Amino acid sequence: MGLLSLGTPLDWHDSKKYNEHVRDNGITQLINIFKQHAQSRNNDKYLWGDEVEYMLVTIDDKNQWARLTIDKDYILDDLNDPEKSLSKSLDNNVLFHPEYGRFMIEATPAKPYDGDSLDDYVYVEQNMIKRRDISQSELPDNIRPITLTTFPRMGCGIFTSPAAKPIGPASQSLFLPDEIINRHVRFPTLTANIRKRRSCKVAINLPLYPDRYTKLLDDSIPKDRDLFLSDKEPFIGASKPGHVYMDSMGFGMGSSCLQITMQGKNIEEARYLYDSLAPITPIMLSLSAAAPIFKGFLVNQDVRWNVVSGSVDDRTFIERDIKPYPEYNLFGGLNVDQNSKLSSKHRVTNEFGDWSGLFTKEGKPIQKVPKSRYDSIDAYLADVNYSTNYFKDKFNDISPPINQKIYNRLIDEKSKLFDSHLAKHFAHLFIRDPLVIFSERVNQNNELENDHFENIQSTNWQTLRFKPPALYEPNTDLSNTPGWRVEFRPMEIQLTDFENAAYSNFISLLSKSIIKFQPNFYIPISKIEENMETAHKVDSVIKEQFWFKSLDQWNLDSGDFIGYDLSWFDRFLNAGNDELEVGEVYVNGYSLNGAIINKEQRTQLNGSVSMSTSSTASSSISSSGQTSPINRVSTSRKTIAATADIDDGGIDQRYTINEIINGTDKFPGLIRLIIKLIATDLVPKSQTHHCESQELAKSLIRIKHYLILISNRASGKIPTIANWLRSKVLKSELYHEDSKVSEQLNYKLVKDSLAVTDLSDERLVREVLGEIVTDYLLNNNSV
Ligand code: ADP
Ligand code: MG
Ligand code: MG
Ligand code: MG
Ligand code: MG
Ligand code: MG
Repeated sequence: MGLLSLGTPLDWHDSKKYNEHVRDNGITQLINIFKQHAQSRNNDKYLWGDEVEYMLVTIDDKNQWARLTIDKDYILDDLNDPEKSLSKSLDNNVLFHPEYGRFMIEATPAKPYDGDSLDDYVYVEQNMIKRRDISQSELPDNIRPITLTTFPRMGCGIFTSPAAKPIGPASQSLFLPDEIINRHVRFPTLTANIRKRRSCKVAINLPLYPDRYTKLLDDSIPKDRDLFLSDKEPFIGASKPGHVYMDSMGFGMGSSCLQITMQGKNIEEARYLYDSLAPITPIMLSLSAAAPIFKGFLVNQDVRWNVVSGSVDDRTFIERDIKPYPEYNLFGGLNVDQNSKLSSKHRVTNEFGDWSGLFTKEGKPIQKVPKSRYDSIDAYLADVNYSTNYFKDKFNDISPPINQKIYNRLIDEKSKLFDSHLAKHFAHLFIRDPLVIFSERVNQNNELENDHFENIQSTNWQTLRFKPPALYEPNTDLSNTPGWRVEFRPMEIQLTDFENAAYSNFISLLSKSIIKFQPNFYIPISKIEENMETAHKVDSVIKEQFWFKSLDQWNLDSGDFIGYDLSWFDRFLNAGNDELEVGEVYVNGYSLNGAIINKEQRTQLNGSVSMSTSSTASSSISSSGQTSPINRVSTSRKTIAATADIDDGGIDQRYTINEIINGTDKFPGLIRLIIKLIATDLVPKSQTHHCESQELAKSLIRIKHYLILISNRASGKIPTIANWLRSKVLKSELYHEDSKVSEQLNYKLVKDSLAVTDLSDERLVREVLGEIVTDYLLNNNSV
């Protein structure tokens, strides 16, 4: 969540008259941001950081329950207060942030990581361990910060400590008390305003996991409550048979995730990185799946994503293009100007009537809006001004609605800082209304403040976020201020700090290698949408295939990556000091890249070995067409381009996540990009011929195990957290084959999860992390 403005939040019906004002001034602020930063900053350092979200859970061993703690939120103030005795936070480079749930905290490094040496990547886990320790030190022993993506029995009877009833006016939920919402006025207002704009409660329906005795209906919906008009919604269309029904923002925004932010050197590098990471988002959602249980039911999917999406879906019936519930308003909480002029440009017709050309009284056209504000990205930013220049218009193959007025304004902007792709990106974000406006913050200094821009930007919760810098006083030294960043947002939180560090490092190292090797990952964005749906499926990581750029179309010479598989670490670490060479080794024109050769081999190959680090050399040599007993270099860039036309394989195909992550005979896979980056850029230059330093060896071994974890999840050798939790339920004697998770079973799941987090139960740790990682971790517990 962004910084919390203080003041008086306006109710939706009082705030909507300012909607156009916020958008207009927000765009002025954006233009000023571009004027200040788009051209001036050209060489920012690669910095990055993660965000981990925790739930505080109270555990009662005597009565065998575990519940969400809603009366310890004050620890957030203490955690960040330098006056408080336990506030070791800043000294430890740790920062705590409020989150949507009163039972939640978020923690980040106080200062971003460098990411330019191996130590930086080992430090990530140390920092995460500190965060857990410091927050635990503020809590009694029976209250634990846990990193489960969803709390299994959220919304079932008494699930909070202390107990609270679901009778709150902000959410009007039949299941979630308002006391689970962060006390800061922004959050209940956000919850209520989403409902008021939409004119009904949010409605999320997840398919029940069908088991032998599963009744294919959600029998937890109270039939007789008569507290709010909305109480009848589940019976007039909001709940679907065969599904678990959820009616409140907390079901989504109360879940925990893992986010990573990376800084590009300049805006163009950030755009290329954003685009390159887009096809990776569903892959990492699937690979991090950790949410098979909602509202006390096993569901027939593995992740939180569509739940969060539904939980903040503020679209009216007309925007969603669906029939309203009986007696509900098609236009929801919008003030429609029935006299507004028809204009063909903004035609909106649907089966319920012709609404073409209608505007709100605030002057925004009524549009169909296919997606929630929390959803996958709708368009690439395009690398048109970057050295790669891979983007083609055909990749942006869905046409998301845009705010035409804002698009025109950005394109007409005299500064010419927005090309059509950037203008469309922001014009799409700005189809949304602001959800919370503070009366004290209606008027802002657009030269120095950017709250109006951030108001819209930070309530577009997409798989990726393109984060521009903030505005600064003229003459500020910008070099130490955040620059153009890309945030990677799809991943689910994992149980152990080791896993969270592994996933964070994987994304950061992948981003660094994308910037270095410049692969072409563009596929039509509609294929990424399809992958997002696929990623929701049970065990999608091993059972499904995902669209990805054809392995021969990455615009990389796969020969350059031979030898950089996981065994590279062992060869590098085990080679005697005088025995090895590492780097780009060519033998008779054939690559031994990363294939570390020893003295004996070298003598045999004497005279025919050359060292090179340039990829041009590799291409020209490898196209010579000779054969060799050693790793044959695959096709060069030029040859790939030529053969692509012949075999007409298409630019994208469906692959298993195993192929995408671990590669195949013909194609590097994402892990090899990372290992080559480590070998060439992160192992200190003085060490590239042998691994002298103990310190370095230790770091390399830990990083190797992070990659083994990812690799083994991708190949299915070890389960995802979702798979592990589901099978814990299915195998439990507390389970009755009815898809239900009782209070006692919930307790058991939380206890087992904590035993994994704490690495305190070897059997459970082995189940989750597998033999190799567990053996390593139990012997190298301290990072
Ligand atoms: P938000 O919730 O808006 O995504 P947070 O402040 O919670 O933002 O988290 C931002 C993350 O970005 C943190 O991990 C932080 O360390 C990291 N970060 C801060 N400055 C930079 C920077 N200049 N470049 C990259 N990452 C940064
Ligand atoms: Mg957060
Ligand atoms: Mg945050
Ligand atoms: Mg934020
Ligand atoms: Mg460093
Ligand atoms: Mg974030």
